[in-house]
Amino acid sequence: MLDVCLVGTGGMMPLPERWLTALLLRYNGKMILVDCGEGTQIPLKMLGWGFKSLDIICLTHYHGDHVAGLPGILLTLGNAGRREPLTIIGPPGLRRVVQGLRVIAPELPYEIHYIESSDQQPETFQMGDFHISTLPLEHTMPCVGYTIEIHRRPKFQPHKAEAYQIPKPLWKVLQQGESIQWNGQEIAPSFVLGPPRKGLKISYCTDTRPIPSLIEFIKNADLFICEGMYGDEDKRQKAIEYKHMLFSEAAQLAKEGQVQELWLTHYSPSLTEPQQYLGNAQTYFPNVRLGNDLMTTSLLFE
Ligand SMILES: [Zn+2]
Ligand SMILES: [Zn+2]
Repeated sequence: MLDVCLVGTGGMMPLPERWLTALLLRYNGKMILVDCGEGTQIPLKMLGWGFKSLDIICLTHYHGDHVAGLPGILLTLGNAGRREPLTIIGPPGLRRVVQGLRVIAPELPYEIHYIESSDQQPETFQMGDFHISTLPLEHTMPCVGYTIEIHRRPKFQPHKAEAYQIPKPLWKVLQQGESIQWNGQEIAPSFVLGPPRKGLKISYCTDTRPIPSLIEFIKNADLFICEGMYGDEDKRQKAIEYKHMLFSEAAQLAKEGQVQELWLTHYSPSLTEPQQYLGNAQTYFPNVRLGNDLMTTSLLFE
């Protein structure tokens, strides 16, 4: 089970009733935070999942509404007792930006590992159970989208292991996807495992124009969380100029990417009543929800 929380839903600045857009995922006791704008640690505190097991922070880009909350979170992690290294992923410039922000959080009781993703081509990083892919987006500065997948191991088939007379203590090794030596023979996991099984996929894309490469990137996602900076179709010129999206553009991506469900987020501060424009998205993609702060769900394997 993958727990998902849309921590906030605002763009540009936090508002009294709307925190800045960020996403928190939890699987097997490990957590990933995507983006960390000003104040993000407050809704995280309200959520109550704790801070200590936050292992990875993914940053989409370095506009303040996505990173200004980082020093505070880094300090809070230390105060929560974190001593294990933390990994931060982001587009080029990551080290410079984080080190700049860390001028006000210089002493942390844990190490930070930096992974700079390309802003030219897609990349995938495996971190424990999380398969994290990045895609360069089209914004006013280098920006990447994230797809996070949890793969599901094929089912172990005991009758096959018995046919090879493999002793039970070795079953676990095969189950975890490693080969074993038995009876002078190499036994690969594929000998005893069933067919591949569908895993879980969640995509998070903000801030960007809708670009064609997004369709493959979000393909068949269980959940697509996408920016909808503007609801009103009359804001199209503004969306093009500032490299953001309309509700209708996010919904068309969801449709073409054949995702299961779309959540809209990263609303402009001027968009005080997103529900007024929900219809603009539903026209293209019916299974759309307007994100609201601390909206949560749990994705289950089929
Ligand atoms: Zn933004
Ligand atoms: Zn931005």
